[in-house]
Amino acid sequence: MKLSGWGRYPQIEITPLKPAHTPAVQSMIAAQANSSLGLSGLVARGLGRSYGDSALANTLITTQYLDHFLAFDEETGILHCASGVSFAEILKVFVPKGWFLPVTPGTQFVTVGGAIASDVHGKNHHLDGSFSAHLINLKLMVASGEILECSATQHRELFLATCGGMGLTGIILEASFQMLAIESAYIQETTWKTHNLAETLVLFDEFQKTTYSVAWIDCLSTGKQLGRSLLMLGEHAKKEDLAEGLGEGLQTAKTGKLSIPIDMPNAVLNSHSVKAFNSLYYNKIRQKQTQRQVHYAPFFYPLDSLQNWNRLYGKNGFIQYQFVLPKSSGLEGLTKILSKIAESKRGSFLAVLKAFGKGNDNYLSFPVEGYTLALDFKIDSTLFAFLNELDSIVLDYSGRLYLTKDARMSEATFKQSYPLWEQFQKVRAQYGAEKRFNSLQSQRLGL
Ligand SMILES: Cc1cc2nc3c(=O)[nH]c(=O)nc-3n(C[C@H](O)[C@H](O)[C@H](O)COP(=O)(O)OP(=O)(O)OC[C@H]3O[C@@H](n4cnc5c(N)ncnc54)[C@H](O)[C@@H]3O)c2cc1C
Repeated sequence: MKLSGWGRYPQIEITPLKPAHTPAVQSMIAAQANSSLGLSGLVARGLGRSYGDSALANTLITTQYLDHFLAFDEETGILHCASGVSFAEILKVFVPKGWFLPVTPGTQFVTVGGAIASDVHGKNHHLDGSFSAHLINLKLMVASGEILECSATQHRELFLATCGGMGLTGIILEASFQMLAIESAYIQETTWKTHNLAETLVLFDEFQKTTYSVAWIDCLSTGKQLGRSLLMLGEHAKKEDLAEGLGEGLQTAKTGKLSIPIDMPNAVLNSHSVKAFNSLYYNKIRQKQTQRQVHYAPFFYPLDSLQNWNRLYGKNGFIQYQFVLPKSSGLEGLTKILSKIAESKRGSFLAVLKAFGKGNDNYLSFPVEGYTLALDFKIDSTLFAFLNELDSIVLDYSGRLYLTKDARMSEATFKQSYPLWEQFQKVRAQYGAEKRFNSLQSQRLGL
């Protein structure tokens, strides 16, 4: 079967292995070691929501069978589950009990294993860090087939390499993490409309104590309006503040039934359609500031209501280009990059800006204190050359690209921007992972 990441590039012909229990995973890893193709790579695959080639390899082990909850402590809110459990399933079971995920990406269709391997961040990174900050421990099957418990204090180096390590240290089997107590399933949302990027960044600073913040940027606006945005802020709504008619207020979302049935023809998505969409979206609110109470699903997962939305970009697929720039160079670097994008007339419906708090000690986790911008670009014959130019600007400003979105960065760009890659490799070598766990991405990046 043809398989790809969410960006649908690259695609490979492969049938993933679907073990039914843990001893089967052990045998699969052992078989890989004995095969003459031993160096060709094996990694785990969750729900395939990484965009590029990190969950692609010659041997893929799906974590579908690891779909069970193991324990939950109602006093402390610590959840212990198998790594193939999805965030959607966790929300379905735990929101009605008054618990939410401590950190969540912009889709609920990710597994716990995938969230750890990418060390995902959410709209609260500036206060709460990334997913690994809430992990108590995890169980990892390493190259020998042995299962090791890792945490910030136990096999610490393996823990630091595994969180954010893109599946390259072994197969995560289980994890325990801290959930967040909530009084309702609703978010008190405030939206600010800004005139330009400088104003957006000032507001990010002003509202740095607000739990959730994210800005949608009109990436085709230019001149004095460059970077004009809608900045969305959110707090979990308290029970006493809920609007009437919401009952107990802890109901989960229904999954969207709308779906894109075919690949969109290339002509549908162009600078004119994106410009028209951006203008409509930016002007959907007239006032400087609006407020509403909104269910967590449209607040955190607006794209989940449209299944297969990745087909909108046509059959060649798309690249999600996500980079982070340190805070000190944020305004200048973002201005340069947004100007270049507007000049190129390459539109992106999605242009999402977030503020990051301090980074952590993990060797390959993406966040550093500053600003991260994510943009979707349809693939055409000139896109990669254009993205190489953006890479140079990102490097000039001491930034880097997010591995879970990457499908094309060069080895040199990666090694320059992830200075702890050699320490990461040392730990992999120590546990025999270098010769066993490899993806198309790790091979491209020289890992
Ligand atoms: C619409 C959308 C919005 C998103 N928003 C955000 C966001 O806001 N913030 C953010 O950080 N990310 C975001 N992402 C990216 C997503 O959170 C990550 O790519 C996540 O890792 C996907 O999880 P998955 O289960 O689909 O993993 P996969 O895509 O299947 O795999 C991703 C990586 O994890 C490894 N892996 C998976 N399971 C295991 C395991 N059990 N053991 C070891 N390694 C494993 C794979 O080998 C691979 O390297 C978004 C993605 C989409 C599609």
